[in-house]
Amino acid sequence: MTADVRKETLGFQTEAKQLLHLMIHSLYSNKEIFLRELISNASDAIDKLRFAALADPGLLEGGGDYRITVDLAKSKKLHTITISDNGIGMNRDEVIENLGTIAKSGTAAFLENLTGDQKKDSQLIGQFGVGFYSAFIVADRVEVHTRKAGEDADQGVLWESHGEAEFTIEAKPRPTRGTSITLFLKKDSQEFADDWRVRSVIKKYSDHISVPVMMAKPPAAPKEGEKPARDAQVEYEAVNAATALWTRPRTEVSDDEYKAFYKHISHDFEDPLTWSHNKVEGKLDYTSLLYLPRKAPFDLWNRDMSRGLKLYVQRTFIMDEAEQFLPLYLRFVKGVVDSNDLSLNVSREILQQDPAVESMRGALIKRVLDMLAKLAKGDDYPVFWKEFGQVLKEGPAEDFANKEKIAKLLRFSTTHTDLETQDQSLENYVSRMPEKQDKIYYVVAENFKTARHSPQLEVFRKKGIEVLLLSDRVDDWLMNHLQEFDGKQFQDVARGALDLGADSDEEKAEQEKLAKESEALVERLAKVLEGRVAEVRATSRLTDSASCLVVGDFDMGAQMRRIMEAAGQPVPESKPILEINPGHPLVKMLDQEADEDRFADLGSLLFDQANLAEGGQLDDPAAYVARLNRLLLQMGKD
Ligand code: ADP
Repeated sequence: MTADVRKETLGFQTEAKQLLHLMIHSLYSNKEIFLRELISNASDAIDKLRFAALADPGLLEGGGDYRITVDLAKSKKLHTITISDNGIGMNRDEVIENLGTIAKSGTAAFLENLTGDQKKDSQLIGQFGVGFYSAFIVADRVEVHTRKAGEDADQGVLWESHGEAEFTIEAKPRPTRGTSITLFLKKDSQEFADDWRVRSVIKKYSDHISVPVMMAKPPAAPKEGEKPARDAQVEYEAVNAATALWTRPRTEVSDDEYKAFYKHISHDFEDPLTWSHNKVEGKLDYTSLLYLPRKAPFDLWNRDMSRGLKLYVQRTFIMDEAEQFLPLYLRFVKGVVDSNDLSLNVSREILQQDPAVESMRGALIKRVLDMLAKLAKGDDYPVFWKEFGQVLKEGPAEDFANKEKIAKLLRFSTTHTDLETQDQSLENYVSRMPEKQDKIYYVVAENFKTARHSPQLEVFRKKGIEVLLLSDRVDDWLMNHLQEFDGKQFQDVARGALDLGADSDEEKAEQEKLAKESEALVERLAKVLEGRVAEVRATSRLTDSASCLVVGDFDMGAQMRRIMEAAGQPVPESKPILEINPGHPLVKMLDQEADEDRFADLGSLLFDQANLAEGGQLDDPAAYVARLNRLLLQMGKD
């Protein structure tokens, strides 16, 4: 194949163009990160080559001394910084694809979310991961000269852009494999052609990178009486420590180094919330370094979000996003796992079946849950919960074995505080339970307000029994799998007959009396509402409201029903139970109503109201309005 020698001008993909523009304007106050991003990419490119060379040593073209080189040049007119690597390199198509488009799914949605407020946007961009385009924060022109490992010198490619709408691409031979990126620095960013400045940034961000980052040694000062040497060979020296951070003993790694390493692997801007670094020896032999981010990534709810750990085998990079080591409900964890048990030529398929991976997975899950339990004792847990609580709620369904551990990490709103902030643990709840109470009560509704004002809560409030207020989408699902905690069953307050377990004999007798007295009314109502309800019954669960709906013991909850219906899934037919409050004036009035039409209107109204109060939708809103108006008009006449 001969190289395409034409110089072509191509346009950036719309999203790439938008992101470029935004980045230049919102990351202005944090310029130096471009160096971290470009060195990070260079190190990834070397990791990829190292891995590919395991199968095809020819790719090394005789040279396996991996290095990243940073060169600076200053003239009157131009200041440049060039970052070179002898990694995998790119061919023409890859350059166009990688540097002209953004492959992350959900990018368009992400961009729509930006506010125009620089401070906020720069944080969002941080979660998105800035990468290569950050070069344009400091440069008004960028050249990328690259050649893929294993290909001929004349397959080299030169990419060039001013970071606006277009880039050009042409053939340019390159004898050595890898990539060089030259930044023509803007007037206000010329500091990045200064040796001391660049060294300090590299130290700060890239010390942990396992390949050496080389810079020209500053020329030695001429000795007394000697002329400065001209044309002396430039000598290079490593600026970073160049040992993989996770291989160092914990005691020798500073917090700042851990944080910098996190930013390297996660492309996150912010510091992590916490981390856990462990070396395991014995039956299994591996090292893991796991981080909890402080902010959810923009694509946390995308099915194809990038997740998983960076996998190394005996310090050789094997793959990004090895998903087999952690379950979905811990998909927010970032980190590295380096195994001495796996073979260097493992593939994703092998990972899925390998018993060593299975054991590591079990141990890593435990590490994360322990890390969370530790975090839960400190002040940062609310930060974690706000960002990732809903994901963790998927845990009990996905990971039965660790259900109890996960349950301890869950946080809820409850009637104890009536606050929307989910900050109460089940242990808190249980510690407040009166002796006689044997269940953990909860209500599920579409949103917090509806949950909090649920008529079903009235008797619980009256008796001072705490109820969990659930309104997240996963909550019904969660409760289906949680079932019990600390030996206590969970009980949906809107499900089945009311059983407070703490009722005295007197109260029970009172309830029976109520039921007896309401028998006739209940029968009349059941007739009027036939086909709409499964049953009508008198209840003592209401104090202020006239009526409420409950579901049968084995029927699907109202929230789950709505979610499934919204998703277009078939939902089994089931009708709610209408419970009425015999002590309520409206119900008393109904009992006295002799006119059958008026009785039917009032009865339907009680049913519709109960539906509305729990955030449900009326089957026939127009009929509801007509009924209500009839009754209002009659009120005027009476
Ligand atoms: P990310 O690194 O998050 O994928 P970037 O915008 O930084 O996003 O880079 C896009 C892609 O360009 C990378 O995934 C990689 O395939 C390629 N790339 C960037 N820098 C290099 C490099 N120095 N050598 C080889 N490929 C590179």
